[in-house]
Amino acid sequence: VENLLEVRNLKKHFHLGKGATLKAVDGITFSVKKGETFGIVGESGCGKSTAGRTILGLYDQTDGEVIFNGKNIHQLKGKEKFSFYRQMQMIFQDPYASLNPRSTVLEIISEPMEVHGMYGSKKGRTEKVYQLLEDVGLNRDHANRYPHEFSGGQRQRIGIARALALDPQLIIADEPISALDVSVQAQVVNLMKRLQKEKGLTYVFIAHDLSMVKQISDRIGVMYLGQMVELTEGSSLYKKPLHPYTQALLTAIPIPDPDVEDKRERIILQGELPSPMNPPSGCVFRTRCAYAMEACSVKKPEFREVEENHYVACHLYDAGIVGSSGSEQIAA
Ligand code: SF4
Ligand code: MG
Repeated sequence: VENLLEVRNLKKHFHLGKGATLKAVDGITFSVKKGETFGIVGESGCGKSTAGRTILGLYDQTDGEVIFNGKNIHQLKGKEKFSFYRQMQMIFQDPYASLNPRSTVLEIISEPMEVHGMYGSKKGRTEKVYQLLEDVGLNRDHANRYPHEFSGGQRQRIGIARALALDPQLIIADEPISALDVSVQAQVVNLMKRLQKEKGLTYVFIAHDLSMVKQISDRIGVMYLGQMVELTEGSSLYKKPLHPYTQALLTAIPIPDPDVEDKRERIILQGELPSPMNPPSGCVFRTRCAYAMEACSVKKPEFREVEENHYVACHLYDAGIVGSSGSEQIAA
């Protein structure tokens, strides 16, 4: 399967004046295959939302490359760039804040179509809106209502319909279920899965919690302080996490089967999340890592493939330190 999206050494630094720099995203690399769901997980402040917005061009990148369908987006200009971004859309965490309260659902969903001059006439666009409302489990009677008349889950359905209005290939969903009631979360995830099948969509699904990305992601990248520290298939990440940070995140998720006794030792992260204004030297995770060694404060661990399709940035997997038995040693 070819890659729809390739992100190479992407950086987004914010210059805050007086020489202060916030390295919100500091060199992340990953690719997303056509039709897959790539999960990005990490605590708030790890840079995952900034990464999503930078990929979509809502922020100018500081460095690195974003390749979409084989084209370097940041080399595109004018009209070509405009029509290129049509292919990538975003679903936001808070559907209410992202929907104009004074616009009807019809106006909200047809606006991007109008901007891009799609579906011919107003009539054509209205028909498309009706179709989209049905696609997301609402109906045409909802078209003339206002956002406040809907529940949180319904509003997120409207947000999804709007994201689909331009027939995009890629959707970046930034914590799309975090603000919803638990009972509604699964419905929205199932809707997203169905739409993915029907429309051949590719997703980047951003969440702060591994249990949320688990339900939907084929592969998952774990971010910490602006960096990607581990990346692999969802199943390997849950079965055999290699990075100490991922291991800690995973022990925070309860075992789903109530009949299975949870014998795992809960790993509590030590200390506070350091400020991204002043990240630790060497490994960014070292101030909270139970395995930190001398090398960890001196040398930044390289993000590399230590097992097939399993990337990690941690000195525990450097040749000569623990070798191939590294993960067993950590799990013990
Ligand atoms: Fe811990 Fe060192 Fe690995 Fe960082 S590089 S996660 S500090 S063992
Ligand atoms: Mg966020």
